[in-house]
Amino acid sequence: MEKLLEQPIVKKLAAAEECVWINPALADAKTALAAIPYGKADVKDAADRLLRFAPYIREVFPETEENGGLIESPLTEISNFAAWLRGEMPETLPGRLFLKRDSDLQAAGSVKARGGIYEVLKHAETLAMEEGLLSREENYTKLLSPECKAFFKQHEVAVGSTGNLGLSIGIMSAALGFRVTVHMSADAKQWKKDLLRSKGVTVMEYAGDYSEAVRQGRAISDADPMSYFVDDENSVDLFMGYAVAAERLDAQFAAQGIVVDAEHPLFVTIPCGVGGAPGGITFGLKLLYGDNVHVFYAEPTQCPCMLLGLASGKNSDISVQDIGLHGRTHADGLAVGRPSGFVGSVVKELLAGEYTVEDYRLYDLMRALLDTESIFIEPSACAGIIAPAMLGGSADMQAYIAEKGLAPHMENAVHVLWATGGRLVPEEMRQEYVNTHLK
Ligand SMILES: *Cc1c(COP(=O)(O)O)cnc(C)c1O
Repeated sequence: MEKLLEQPIVKKLAAAEECVWINPALADAKTALAAIPYGKADVKDAADRLLRFAPYIREVFPETEENGGLIESPLTEISNFAAWLRGEMPETLPGRLFLKRDSDLQAAGSVKARGGIYEVLKHAETLAMEEGLLSREENYTKLLSPECKAFFKQHEVAVGSTGNLGLSIGIMSAALGFRVTVHMSADAKQWKKDLLRSKGVTVMEYAGDYSEAVRQGRAISDADPMSYFVDDENSVDLFMGYAVAAERLDAQFAAQGIVVDAEHPLFVTIPCGVGGAPGGITFGLKLLYGDNVHVFYAEPTQCPCMLLGLASGKNSDISVQDIGLHGRTHADGLAVGRPSGFVGSVVKELLAGEYTVEDYRLYDLMRALLDTESIFIEPSACAGIIAPAMLGGSADMQAYIAEKGLAPHMENAVHVLWATGGRLVPEEMRQEYVNTHLK
């Protein structure tokens, strides 16, 4: 540990200083992807499954009607916000800024509506098929029948969560008829617990952090043969549900006439907690765009768990507490002290880099986005929307741009800032957030 703390990047993380880190292990996409035991077929399997469920989803979540039963969010260019950001931080990278608004995803109001809902659907499909209640060729609205619901009632779905994963798993499982238990960490917001309880979900609360809630939840669930634990730290299903986002984004690019190639680089920034959502999206994007997409994660200065795991090479064998951070942050969705070891091992050669942000910026950015674009997103989601400025101000990032031969193409760059949550935040909470000034 002493030696580790001598590494300049770890020193900065331990001091809770904002920093930009370029991943020295980034490999060319072909080589990196070849070393990963998953591929396009796995993502396609997930995408196909979501298509089979579309008629059912349309019935249960009528707000997905216009998307034909697919849970999907808009891609919106945010030029007014870009102008504001450039005014505040002139070092902001050139290019167009787009917001991928998973903050408005139907059903669960956050990026977790991708992976979380997908995993519950896959589990339900597996159980129903084993029971002879469903076949692939049937219309999945059959799952609305009292017979299917009564069957699912015999089974439990459980999950450990900082909040949003619990919402997505809870809402979807309850709709199918499952019994649901959500194990919440101390950081989870009260309104999220209240909302879940109103849907008949059992909410267990723990004084410890996210890892503790997962540990306890997993132990209780594992002791019950009728209980299925959604394991955010290791789940391949969650990961593939998230990965489908890439092809959906690609279709939106096509519709808006946006090209991604060597002369039109794509920069994507995603706020990172345990890593499942950003990891899955990264995997999907690299499969589609290879070396033409540059993916970065954003983490709070108090919870840079993925950055620490990757930069130290220790992956999930190190936590932010090990380097003396307390790990508390206003970014509740990112309040994770130890990263997913599975995700770390998949993205270690795919990720371009990361940066960390102080909490006070989240509220300033939230207000700026609201003022300039009339779009509300929650504090955790704001960590990613400052990316072009944070990265632009870094000498290491300038070196990355030069080394990759991107300098002549930066004017053509497209920056996608992944807005990861917000839709379900109650009005009074929005007001409270908007009025929060930490600096
Ligand atoms: C969960 C979450 C993330 C990050 O996802 P992980 O899978 O935990 O890395 C980002 N933003 C919000 C709002 C979230 O709820």
